[in-house]
Amino acid sequence: MPTTTRALSVPSAGAPFEAVDLERRDLRDDDVRIDVAFAGICHSDIHTVRDEWGAAHYPIVTGHEIAGTVSAVGDGVTKYKVGDRVGVGCLVDSCTECENCKNGQEMFCSNGSVGTYNSQNYDGEWAAGGYSQQIVVTERMVLRIPEGIELDEAAPLLCAGITTYSPLRRWGAGPGKKVAVVGVGGLGHMAVKLAAAMGAEVSTLSRSSAKADDAKALGSSNHIATSDEDAMKAAKGSFDLIINTVSADLDMETYVRLLRPNGALVNVGLPPNKLAVNPGSLIGGNKVLTGSNIGGIGETQEMLDFCAEHGIGATIETLDASDTTTVDAAYDEVVAGKVRYRYVIDTSTIPA
Ligand code: NAP
Ligand code: ZN
Repeated sequence: MPTTTRALSVPSAGAPFEAVDLERRDLRDDDVRIDVAFAGICHSDIHTVRDEWGAAHYPIVTGHEIAGTVSAVGDGVTKYKVGDRVGVGCLVDSCTECENCKNGQEMFCSNGSVGTYNSQNYDGEWAAGGYSQQIVVTERMVLRIPEGIELDEAAPLLCAGITTYSPLRRWGAGPGKKVAVVGVGGLGHMAVKLAAAMGAEVSTLSRSSAKADDAKALGSSNHIATSDEDAMKAAKGSFDLIINTVSADLDMETYVRLLRPNGALVNVGLPPNKLAVNPGSLIGGNKVLTGSNIGGIGETQEMLDFCAEHGIGATIETLDASDTTTVDAAYDEVVAGKVRYRYVIDTSTIPA
């Protein structure tokens, strides 16, 4: 039987959250039902409900940083049992048969992966995300949260963690490498923790010095206020790898200039406008300007295990959603760069 759960939903662009009933499908053979404990607020949730990317389909239940406990399993489920601590990230299905799925890059599924929200399941049903008390997901897309990471601090790893872990690994962050993280927000603070744990020398680039002490505590040995022209000049040509996590438009030339020859600038931030770079800025120095999209399911599990091994969780502020305007206000605070460093909704507080 389908179950009814409580969720936070946005009925139209710009409208506030409201608590609603949401139906979750009856368990298929390969499905896991999860009692969601915490759901992180990613800036992508905000871009989506405010329709900054276009193509938003309302009503929307956002949330793709989900942590909780298995409460039921379908007859054919083998990986999970009731009581297991699990997570769900940005994907809830993929075809499993195309080259990209077989290579562990389910996000690039040739037949179209299914996102956790604002996305249609293969049966046509609209997916609804983690700002809810239950979710039903095929076991293939469910991650195991290792003992040693609390569920609230684990939730943001499912998007902010994997989105930064994947390019850090791909571009060789490690001992002897100088890594800069631009934007110390949800993704940025995870990039700092992960790059430091990988052994890289980490710098943070932020709009001001306001986050300098925090950045140091997260693992940055050099905090640069991007408003400080002399400090930016001094940093020219000094980084092997730059991860840009900024959610707003940035002048790429300014950051390409900070790369060493053969260095790479990986853009993970997703503002709606185009990036502009002079080809000469890349050619002079064999520089790489690239992007990175979350990570596959296997790599997400690898990231969670890495976090457990290194004692890493997200730095969070927990939200009580019993007054749903708290979540609306939290969205404004994220946009204003005020969150330290990820809001996590305690889903048990969603009003009955
Ligand atoms: P966030 O917590 O809001 O962090 C973004 C940071 O960018 C802020 O903390 C701020 O850092 C900086 N910033 C914000 N506005 C700025 C402005 N006008 N000028 C310069 N810097 C500014 O957001 P998030 O959740 O980390 O997400 C960041 C971006 O990544 C979003 O666009 C999101 O959609 C995208 N994203 C992409 C993927 C992917 O797969 N590629 C996955 C998840 C999210 P300072 O205060 O330090 O300056
Ligand atoms: Zn996200």
